[in-house]
Amino acid sequence: MEKKVIETDILIIGAGPVGIFTVFEAGLIKIKCHLIDALPMPGGQCAEIYPKKPIYDIPGYPEILAGDLIDNLLKQVDPFKPGFTLGERAENLNKLEDGRWEVTTSGGTIHRAPVIAIAGGLGCFEPRKPPLENLIDFEKSGVDYIIKDPEKYRGKKVVIAGGGDSALDWSILLSGVAERVALVHRREQFRGALDSVEKVHSLATQGKMDMFTNCQVSSINGNGHLQKVTLTNKEKSQIDLDADYFIPLFGLSPKLGPLANWGLSLDSNSINVDPLDYSTNVEGIYAIGDINNYPGKLKLILCGFHEATLMVQSAFKRIYPDKHLSFKYTTVNGVNPF
Ligand SMILES: Cc1cc2nc3c(=O)[nH]c(=O)nc-3n(C[C@H](O)[C@H](O)[C@H](O)COP(=O)(O)OP(=O)(O)OC[C@H]3O[C@@H](n4cnc5c(N)ncnc54)[C@H](O)[C@@H]3O)c2cc1C
Repeated sequence: MEKKVIETDILIIGAGPVGIFTVFEAGLIKIKCHLIDALPMPGGQCAEIYPKKPIYDIPGYPEILAGDLIDNLLKQVDPFKPGFTLGERAENLNKLEDGRWEVTTSGGTIHRAPVIAIAGGLGCFEPRKPPLENLIDFEKSGVDYIIKDPEKYRGKKVVIAGGGDSALDWSILLSGVAERVALVHRREQFRGALDSVEKVHSLATQGKMDMFTNCQVSSINGNGHLQKVTLTNKEKSQIDLDADYFIPLFGLSPKLGPLANWGLSLDSNSINVDPLDYSTNVEGIYAIGDINNYPGKLKLILCGFHEATLMVQSAFKRIYPDKHLSFKYTTVNGVNPF
C-alpha cells in the first residue's frame, strides 16, 4: 500500500513548548505547520519530565504548572490547525528535485516541506539507567525514570536514587506525599542547589525521610511488582528497604539521534545556528529552542519563543520570496484561523 505523504510549509521536528509556539507565530503570517515528535503526546520536557512543577519565568504568568503551560499553548495554536505525527522519530532527510525537504519517520510516515524547523530540545529522551540486571522486569511495575504525577506515590514507599537537583527536589516534594521516602546517593556530597541539600538534611534529621549516602542500589526484587530495594554501602554491607517504587534520577542522556547525520554543523549535542534568524548551515533548515547553539545561548522556554518568532519571519521569505511581509500587531490584526 502506498504511504501517505504529509505536505506542509514548515515541518517542525519536536513538539515541545518551542515547537508548539512556532505554529502560532507561523499561523499569524499564514504559514502552515506540521509537528513530529517521538513522544506519544506534545509538550516535550514540560510534559514528560516535570508536568506538575511550577514555572516562574514565563512572562505574564507569575506561576504556571509546566503541564498547564503546554495545555495553554495547544489552545493558543488550535486556530491554526497544526498536524501532528506523534510517537514517531524523525529519521531520514532527503532533498527533493523541487527543492523541498522530505523527512521520513521511524513509523515510515513521509513529510514534505520547503522549510524544516528543528525544535528537538534534548533530542530523544533517554534516561540514564543504573546497571541492574533485572531493571527491565520492573519498568512497568515499580521502576520509574520520570515523575509525572506525585499523586501516584501517595501512601507508597519510594526509593529515589541520585545526587542532583532532580533527586533532591523530588525527595523533598514526595516526603510530604509518600508513606516513606529514602534518598540514596553514591557519594557523601550532593550536586544540587545548596538550599535543596540543606532541606533534605533537615527532613532526614527530623525523621521525615531517610537518607543513605555512600550507598548504591545493588539489587531490586519483587513478585510481579517491586517489593524490595537492596543497598550496598562503601563497607560492602547491605541494607534492605521495603519499596513500592524505585526512581533512579540520574538525568537524561542527550542524544541527537538520527539528526546527527543530517549534515548539520554541530557542537557536541546541539546544532550551531546564525543568531540572526536561527538558520543552520543547511539551506532551509532552522534550529530553535534547547537544541540550538550560538554565543550567549540560554536554554529557557522564553528564549525559545523569541527564536521561533524571528525564525518564522526568515522562513516566510524563503517560502514566498516574491511576497512582502508587513509586520502587524495581534491587537490590530487579531488571530485569523485557517
Ligand atoms: C526539571 C526542569 C525544570 C525546568 N524549569 C524551567 C523553568 O523554570 N523555566 C524555563 O524557561 N525552562 C525550564 N526548563 C527548561 C525547559 O523545559 C526547556 O528550555 C524547554 O523544554 C525547551 O523546549 P524545546 O521545545 O526546545 O524542547 P523540548 O521541551 O526538549 O522538546 C523537544 C521535543 O523534541 C522531540 N524530539 C527530539 N528529537 C526528535 C526526533 N528526531 N524525532 C521526533 N521528535 C524528536 C522530543 O521527543 C521532545 O518532545 C526546565 C527543564 C527541566 C528538565
